[in-house]
Amino acid sequence: MTETLRGMAVAAGVVLGQAHVIRRDRIRVREDFIPKAQLGREIDRYKDALRRTRGELKEIRRRIRADNSAGIADFLDAHLLMLKDSALASAPADIIKERQCNAEWALHLQRERLLTAFEGIADPYLRARKDDVEHVVERVLRNLLGLGAAPDAVTLPAGAASVVVVEDISPTDLLALHQQGVIAVICESGGLNSHSAILARGLGISAVFGVHEAGQRIHHGDDLIVDGGAGIIYVAPDQSLSSYYQQRRQQQQRELAALRQLRDLPARTVDGQLIMLRANVELAEDVEMIAGVNADGIGLYRTEMMFLGRREPPGEQEQFALYRRVVEEMAGRPVTFRTLDVGADKPLGGAQTPRAGAAAINPALGLRAVRWYLQEPEIFQCQVRAILRASALGPVRLLLPMLTTLGEVIQIRALIRAQQDMLQRAGIDFDARLAIGGMIEVPAAALLADVFARHLDFLSIGTNDLIQYTLAADRLDEEVNYLCDPLQPAILRLIALTIQAGAEAGVPVALCGEMAGDPRYTRLLLGMGLREFSMTPAMLPRIKQIILTTRLADTERRVQELWQKVDSDEIAVGVDNLNVGI
Ligand code: PEP
Ligand code: MG
Repeated sequence: MTETLRGMAVAAGVVLGQAHVIRRDRIRVREDFIPKAQLGREIDRYKDALRRTRGELKEIRRRIRADNSAGIADFLDAHLLMLKDSALASAPADIIKERQCNAEWALHLQRERLLTAFEGIADPYLRARKDDVEHVVERVLRNLLGLGAAPDAVTLPAGAASVVVVEDISPTDLLALHQQGVIAVICESGGLNSHSAILARGLGISAVFGVHEAGQRIHHGDDLIVDGGAGIIYVAPDQSLSSYYQQRRQQQQRELAALRQLRDLPARTVDGQLIMLRANVELAEDVEMIAGVNADGIGLYRTEMMFLGRREPPGEQEQFALYRRVVEEMAGRPVTFRTLDVGADKPLGGAQTPRAGAAAINPALGLRAVRWYLQEPEIFQCQVRAILRASALGPVRLLLPMLTTLGEVIQIRALIRAQQDMLQRAGIDFDARLAIGGMIEVPAAALLADVFARHLDFLSIGTNDLIQYTLAADRLDEEVNYLCDPLQPAILRLIALTIQAGAEAGVPVALCGEMAGDPRYTRLLLGMGLREFSMTPAMLPRIKQIILTTRLADTERRVQELWQKVDSDEIAVGVDNLNVGI
């Protein structure tokens, strides 16, 4: 009989295949007392395991290079960097000395500490980075215990349509499975925003994560249907279900092929209006995907990622190296670096943000982003210098998060100017005309959009935060999730106000919240006058397809009546009518 399992819809794609269940025994460690005289040897043992882990990762990385899967190698670089960070490179050795314990136990304690620090992060994307800590620690532990790197040693049967079922998967394992032709991955754990999830989407592997007891309920060799877009798995499907999904799969492949055909077409409405479609980027490896969808540059680079999970912030040189790489890879297309958006639900570790962070009474309303820069400007100034230096190498824009008052804009611009003067005095190149923009994500900023437009070179509407702040509903709190609706009239009014203010001042306005990549809202936003969207690259072809079939003049007329309505249900019906046929 067919059994249906459900989980998180991590990466779309309908596939039919056979289960390949990978079981990994949890590694258990215990504390052993180490006499003082043997502590040095224990520390050496730990360092040796680190060395071997580094060697393994470098070897995998070398194979990837040969395979031409550049970009994905960055996941491994991130893991290699973690091995160098004092949190893994030296802290366990200190624990060995202090506690007089074995290396395995010291690493276990350090792992717990790191994971607890990650748990404190409210932002789900950043919190998901704890998976990387788990994966790196597990590799080191395996080497300490002489177990070898188990998961990527799995061999899938050649030519089979294998669907891997696993408790947990690292990006490295996923990559190894991809190289062996895996068609889908079902995972008991993992988050929607984990590295592995991002990678699955990038590699086009259908994936469902968070499937409770998948390893028990699916057996090796079971026939499976995986619908990654719906987060559904059918175990041992009957004939009629199989033929229905065969047809769906064929249809999906035709649709994907049609979307790929659009890659080189400009995003122009039926009546000729060109729309700018840009990409949101969290990690340097996403840049590769941008080329695949032919985006008009990066509209939002969330730079906070590289500050995470470290005691010290990355220095100017390290940041510059990353920004330079991104600018060079984008080969002339603009890159919008948003300066660090931290200090509220994204606290930084160690010495980086001593006063800001989750400890605040109400962190989302606390010392976040620009508010923090103004109190403790050093880290911001360092980042600005790195961005300015990268601006000498290609088109770069700088975007300021969490602006609330005009005073902030003026003060922050003065801080940036001081860094420009400093570079100039030092004879270091930068783009003197670098565009400086502001996120419109606080209602006060939207209400003052006309004023902000006179002091900034561009505006970018961050609907994720604009919705939470306008509707007083925490974007991470499931209890009030029902309120977080972009179609609430209050939200539409603030978006309209911002677009209008930009148009009147001749200042470009983009929208870079999740709303921009949701096909449901594309026509609504076009009709409200939005001409620039920035979204996760995977959604770009679909949004382009809608633009290509939109008659702007007609849409504008219909939307004009719609967005001013006061009942969100009525607005929702109007939006659905607008979307008939897409
Ligand atoms: C937003 O708030 O809409 C936004 C794009 O920024 P973030 O999601 O990073 O807060
Ligand atoms: Mg935001």
